[in-house]
Amino acid sequence: MTRRPRIYLSPPHMGGREYELLTEAFESNWIAPLGPHVDAFEREFAQVVEVQHAAALSSGTAALHLALRLLDIGPGDEVLCSTLTFVASANAIAYVGARPVFIDADPGTWNIDPRLVREELESSARSGRLPRAAITVDLYGQSADHEPILEACKEYGVPVIEDAAEALGATYHGHPVGGFGRFGVFSFNGNKIMTTSGGGMLVSQDGEAIERARFLATQARDPAPHYEHSVVGYNYRLSNLLAAIGRGQLEVLAERVEARRANFDAFLQALGDLPGLEFMPEADYGRASRWLTCLTVNPGTFGADREEIRLALEADDIEARPVWKPMHLQPVFASCRVRGGEVAADLFARGLCLPSGSALSASEIERVVSIVRRCHRP
Ligand SMILES: *Cc1c(COP(=O)(O)O)cnc(C)c1O
Repeated sequence: MTRRPRIYLSPPHMGGREYELLTEAFESNWIAPLGPHVDAFEREFAQVVEVQHAAALSSGTAALHLALRLLDIGPGDEVLCSTLTFVASANAIAYVGARPVFIDADPGTWNIDPRLVREELESSARSGRLPRAAITVDLYGQSADHEPILEACKEYGVPVIEDAAEALGATYHGHPVGGFGRFGVFSFNGNKIMTTSGGGMLVSQDGEAIERARFLATQARDPAPHYEHSVVGYNYRLSNLLAAIGRGQLEVLAERVEARRANFDAFLQALGDLPGLEFMPEADYGRASRWLTCLTVNPGTFGADREEIRLALEADDIEARPVWKPMHLQPVFASCRVRGGEVAADLFARGLCLPSGSALSASEIERVVSIVRRCHRP
């Protein structure tokens, strides 16, 4: 039997003008972590996400790290963080020597629970030890419920960093995600909705802060003809070649969102009748990008658990992944405080991310669907 090609979870999808722009960058000889494509990418990106300023960086993780540095967070400080996320959100807190305090997810959105954010702020205010910032995550292409979070954080003077790495193209009350907190963070890693192979963006309405981010991202060189440094900096800028790819990807972002949403609708259509499968809900406050199509499996009613389905897919060379393992269950953060945690733990225990690439074909979807259906035992 001829082997069919592997179906990946979320592979890169070129197809616009990326190659043409990359060639142009090459021919101009701006083969460096600066250049006209970096400047243009920042301008165009800021426009798309409706923010004033953007700094193109080498990764989303670098953007998170710089956001925390810009807020002057350091050893001994606490930072609230969604527990249901990719490790990068929490790692950045550790980079600056601060401690994450994890907050559980809301079962209706899978995002950080605004009521628990307020509870944690109230209780830390009572003990006289407020967190220095809060990192919210727009999970799997869905915006967090920013209004109540921002309201609570404002009351206590706690700045918000919006980790929108998974949700470029999604909206909240009609506005693009990423611009709601003091800083917004995006990623152009290979599996995200748009990619530059690797890269990230830090955005803000605060132009001085973004200027400072560019300074810190280029080894914090003070103005002088020689190399003069008064603070510790990083080598975090995005290459001009990769920025050229990013500009091409940005041109087709809206199409990519529609394709990912269509994947979700197709899976829902084809699997929605099966008992014990529940798709990630879409909150009525916004429009999700459906970066990944995620569902939970109730083994009692479905007749198989998440791992059985994942392994059956893998046996047919189809990549599916468990939902993120919450940060409060990770050995590296075992000693950190968590408020709640049961919702995220349950989503991890029963949650599955299906192949969700924007170039996924109808026949590939059918291949996934038939295997999931075969796992069902009434
Ligand atoms: C991908 C991702 C990041 C990190 O992005 P990189 O560009 O890979 O550093 C940060 N936060 C979340 C929630 C992500 O999914």
